Amino acid sequence: MTVHLVGAGPGDPELLTVRAVGLLRQADAVVYDRLVDPAVLDLAPPWAELICVGKTPGAPSPSQDDINAILVDRGRRFGCVVRLKGGDPFVFGRGGEEAAALRAAGLDVEIVPGVTSAVAAPAAAGIPVTLRGVSSGFTVVTAHQDPASGRWLDWDALAQGGTTLVILMGAARAEQIADRLRAGGMADDTPVAVISAATTSEQRIDRTDLSGLRRLRVSSPATIVVGAVAAEDVLAASELNALATQGTVP
Ligand code: SAH
Repeated sequence: MTVHLVGAGPGDPELLTVRAVGLLRQADAVVYDRLVDPAVLDLAPPWAELICVGKTPGAPSPSQDDINAILVDRGRRFGCVVRLKGGDPFVFGRGGEEAAALRAAGLDVEIVPGVTSAVAAPAAAGIPVTLRGVSSGFTVVTAHQDPASGRWLDWDALAQGGTTLVILMGAARAEQIADRLRAGGMADDTPVAVISAATTSEQRIDRTDLSGLRRLRVSSPATIVVGAVAAEDVLAASELNALATQGTVP
């Protein structure tokens, strides 16, 4: 009688939490989004009902009300329902809305945090979102709403924040994001990294700057990192350091 809102991490099944794996193994029903790796669903018992509620391009997708209704229905009928969401369920995943709808229907809810792509995607590129002496914080925003409209976020403040900016859902809006940040006063040569399909076999990393972002073709899902840390690759650096310690770097 509990619906578990479970974070599935950024893509690689190895990045599931121990709690997520334990719940999947005992699930009666798994309600999942489109980007979930099949290996994750394979963890569920063979008799578990698997329900895809993700948006498939070109096909009708269930509304949030439909999804809430499915969760309430399965929550009433089954002992263990797993609502699997990419990354962390409370980072732009509408997990908050689903939890509220389930509580309103009298069901118990557990939140199982997941590894969010907001930090996992930069990490896959060797980019620490905070770095002593370089960036003392990071802000995670969505570019789902057109940055040009300025209704949802204060892009001027973001442009002048001086810390790392992590932008989700921005793959189709790279040009508008770049223009909006430049209009807010951010320098053209501010480093930018775009990490697509992080931690999967399709992972792709593009490094550019704010003016280069305007022309970049970004494939979804992508996390865009803007700020001084986006020029870092501490993984490459540590390799060099290791060589340096061995005395092989001149
Ligand atoms: N709850 C999720 C975010 C949902 S919004 C989380 O915490 O990660 C979906 C957005 O997340 C995508 O548009 C993209 O910006 C980002 N994203 C999800 N998976 C990603 C991945 N494997 N690589 C890069 N970005 C990813």
